[in-house]
Amino acid sequence: GAPQQRSAPGRTPVAGIQHIIAVASGKGGVGKSTTAVNLALGLAGLGLKVGLLDADIYGPSIPRLLGITGKPDTTPEKKLNPMQKFGLKVMSMGFVVAEDTPMIWRGPMVMSAITQLLREVDWGQLDVLVCDLPPGTGDAQLTMAQSVPLSGAVIVSTPQDIALIDARKGLNMFRKVDVPVLGIVENMSYFTCPHCGGRTDIFAHGGARAEAEKMQTPFLGEIPLDIKIRETSDAGTPIVASQPDSPHSAAYRAVAEQV
Ligand code: ADP
Repeated sequence: GAPQQRSAPGRTPVAGIQHIIAVASGKGGVGKSTTAVNLALGLAGLGLKVGLLDADIYGPSIPRLLGITGKPDTTPEKKLNPMQKFGLKVMSMGFVVAEDTPMIWRGPMVMSAITQLLREVDWGQLDVLVCDLPPGTGDAQLTMAQSVPLSGAVIVSTPQDIALIDARKGLNMFRKVDVPVLGIVENMSYFTCPHCGGRTDIFAHGGARAEAEKMQTPFLGEIPLDIKIRETSDAGTPIVASQPDSPHSAAYRAVAEQV
């Protein structure tokens, strides 16, 4: 339901791409990349043509999450061909540099790298490009928000106060630069013990829903803390692709249906 790409000065649309959606978080380690991958797969499951751009230049994790190795080749027009997996077209800095090579770059280089990953890739026709942003509200996020015609941003947070404070900062950043916030996802929302079936709210529960209400933005759903989500991520076979019938996959698809 996101609006068309928003054009504004400097926000040149990307030819062939209908919607660009950012997945953002205030803090690292809250499950932003895991959510971005499974959300992209959920959108593809709705019959949409979906691309996934790993805009985390310093810590690209999408290649590993999707189990993609190898390097993209170049088209005759000197554009990069995105990699393909599980029906997604994928581009990441991780395809271009070795995994253990640190990107010792200052802001302007990061910005130009993101711009290239976005515009110098032959995406073809896409209904939606999901962008996994690095955590926080720094250069990369501002570049995306100001130079890319984002249709909207999805904010991922754990239910903890400390994560929510940072999530609110992210949300306010998007609002400041006139990018619609599509809503908040609560990740690691609760834990159900596989042995006794008892539930533990490890990072508390419901904080993101309350925050969404307070910030007057949609609450997109809760994803539990579950070993299957971690295992499938680590194996490069994200849960929505490898276990589409699991309740967690349904939870991700429900998020996809709302954005
Ligand atoms: P971020 O992109 O916010 O840094 P990641 O998506 O890389 O976070 O997730 C951090 C770690 O937590 C990864 O090991 C991932 O597999 C795991 N993880 C993320 N979401 C869940 C979840 N809902 N249940 C279990 N493990 C999760």
